[in-house]
Amino acid sequence: MALPRGDAEEQLVDTYGRVHRDLRISVTDRCNFRCTYCMPADGLPWLPREEILSFEEIERVARLFVERFGFDSIRLTGGEPTVRADLPVLVRKLAALGVDLAMTTNGATLGRLAGPLRAAGLRRINISLDSLRADRFAELTRRDEIHHVLEGIDAAVAAGFDPVKVNVVCMRGVNDDEVVDFAAFGRDLGVEVRFIEYMPLDADHGWERASIVPGEEIVAAIHAVHPLEPLARGSEPAETFRYLDGAGTVGAIASVTRPFCEACDRVRLTAEGKLRHCLFAIEETDLRSVLRDGGTDDDLAAAVQGCVRAKWAGHGIGSLTFVQPPRTMSQIGG
Ligand code: SAM
Repeated sequence: MALPRGDAEEQLVDTYGRVHRDLRISVTDRCNFRCTYCMPADGLPWLPREEILSFEEIERVARLFVERFGFDSIRLTGGEPTVRADLPVLVRKLAALGVDLAMTTNGATLGRLAGPLRAAGLRRINISLDSLRADRFAELTRRDEIHHVLEGIDAAVAAGFDPVKVNVVCMRGVNDDEVVDFAAFGRDLGVEVRFIEYMPLDADHGWERASIVPGEEIVAAIHAVHPLEPLARGSEPAETFRYLDGAGTVGAIASVTRPFCEACDRVRLTAEGKLRHCLFAIEETDLRSVLRDGGTDDDLAAAVQGCVRAKWAGHGIGSLTFVQPPRTMSQIGG
């Protein structure tokens, strides 16, 4: 739900005319899972504590985006956001800005945290789950914790998050045989399952185009069993479909085969305060040094505008000039 912010001083517009209104904030680079397509088995060298933005620093940046640039949507992510201590304290600070506040999580700690996060003002939640089979889940995440994630999904529904969405990264020969099972899971539970195309943001740089299962193929496989019709699309990355029998919705995020860069309204803040205009950006803008060197809000705004002015037309995956960013998805904040 977009809240009107008519009192904003100016809009954050790039050189292609795209107005930015959505901020993704990574609150930590650490994660309790080791998904094979995202992180190496031994993890990554974690950022030292003092390099991570404090809650006060995050709040200051978020306030600037909301009050000066009219942002109406903030999503917390990571790493795994729920491994950051006292996350509900940050949620309370950001909820006070009056934005649509959401989080992406692996769900493993929601049995404990769903209630406190909802009470602190978090409204929407996306939970990542790539297999419904315990053995495959353990192989993919290198953690035997599917029961915690399933409990977490139930806890999120019970805590009143609306909507609860389940994100599935669908990979050829890995979990593409579970598409219809996931659709049935979403229909039964009343949650929207969204299938995400695998992107070249893996730690091992082993991504291949052949590992992608195109969104179109996924939707066709579901439609053959549970007929669907498309819903209108806004600036959302997902193309959403409604089950014709009324059993809810399902989505596909075809970031590679049907990029939606022309409608992109997002910027991303990494855990150590680097601003990125694209998931696949190579250059970053260091907001932490502005914050810690005594910069004013005008200094911060100028740095933000400089970052967004450099935004490119599209990610260019598949083009000859595409270069995979050195950071993994977990280090950027997906
Ligand atoms: N830990 C949280 C989680 O699991 O949702 C938040 C961070 S995680 C990096 C965010 C999302 O990025 C997850 O849904 C994850 O599956 C997805 N992801 C990670 N690497 C990816 C890749 N190479 N391609 C597509 N999605 C990826």
